[in-house]
Amino acid sequence: MNTTFNLENLIRPNVKTLSPYSSARDEFSGTSSVFLDANENPFDNGINRYPDPQQWDLKKRLAELKGLAKENLILGNGSDEIIDLVMRAFCEPAKDKVIICSPTYGMYRVAAQINDLKICDIKLDTNFQPDVEAILENNDAKLLFLCSPNNPTGNLIDQGILEELLAKFKGLIVLDEAYIDFAADASLVKELDQYPNLIILQTLSKAWAMAGIRLGIGMASSEIIQVLNKIKPPYNINTLSQEKALERLSDEKKSQREIRLLLEERDELIRELRKLSFVEKVFPSQANFILIRVVDANKLYNFLIEKGIVIRNRSTVVQLENCLRISIGTAAENQSLFKALRELEKAFTIQTQ
Ligand SMILES: *Cc1c(COP(=O)(O)O)cnc(C)c1O
Repeated sequence: MNTTFNLENLIRPNVKTLSPYSSARDEFSGTSSVFLDANENPFDNGINRYPDPQQWDLKKRLAELKGLAKENLILGNGSDEIIDLVMRAFCEPAKDKVIICSPTYGMYRVAAQINDLKICDIKLDTNFQPDVEAILENNDAKLLFLCSPNNPTGNLIDQGILEELLAKFKGLIVLDEAYIDFAADASLVKELDQYPNLIILQTLSKAWAMAGIRLGIGMASSEIIQVLNKIKPPYNINTLSQEKALERLSDEKKSQREIRLLLEERDELIRELRKLSFVEKVFPSQANFILIRVVDANKLYNFLIEKGIVIRNRSTVVQLENCLRISIGTAAENQSLFKALRELEKAFTIQTQ
């Protein structure tokens, strides 16, 4: 148990004293037949009413899926909105410090910069694991962002490291599990009630195949969720997104089938990549993408662009020299990639003979 953690001391004073905006739908949410409280257009077209500000139907389904209570959930316009909300709830601009561990998801840094927060970047080690000692030397930071499986490296953070940080870090730990559905049984959600200093982020954008509706999920103690609810835009999840999400979440089997197919495709992609002489390293992946190190990343990237195939060039990122990140596509898309790669392999082996 973390004995130094105190949520009250972390909340920004102006957030603590804020009376949040109270919408018409907050003040009356019971059943009624005549709604004349929100200046809506009364002619029914399915979306003429404001959405449920607390998205209770959707939260009920998500709570079921995650084994949590509805009060442990906050939904955002993508997890990106929740990253920003957490910073605004707990960090004083131009004063407070957050820790990120590069190379990682770029939005933590950008959101911190937008909120004018000090960024302490404690690089991941050569196995892409957090440097516990260096992190704990910065124990005055309000937030620590960790990503597991990490984007763009693809690896999980070691359970022991997470446990040690959760026990000793004085601020809040934001654990981004955007890719967790591709990593069997690795989520910390089942242990959320043991960690009052933990906020877990997941999203419908990856395994659930709904990047277009922008739906991120924040999971934490009800005390933390209450703070975030206070400052969120009242109607941050629109009606269409709530409906689409419920529809998709009703068919868990469909997502599981797709995940299985993607994992098979990932294995095949790894096998193909290992055959290529210009690929120096295929990093292990617990996600729906693979990071590779090649002889000349820019050359391979441009070659694939000419073939109409776009991958992500990460070679300018520190620690990721000559690295490229490849998302797992459909079988047909992956075959197009293999074909192009084999073509390049032929040219490459002739050239180096
Ligand atoms: C893709 C991704 C997200 C998803 O963000 P949304 O705003 O929910 O689409 C979050 N974190 C990481 C690490 C990601 O790679």
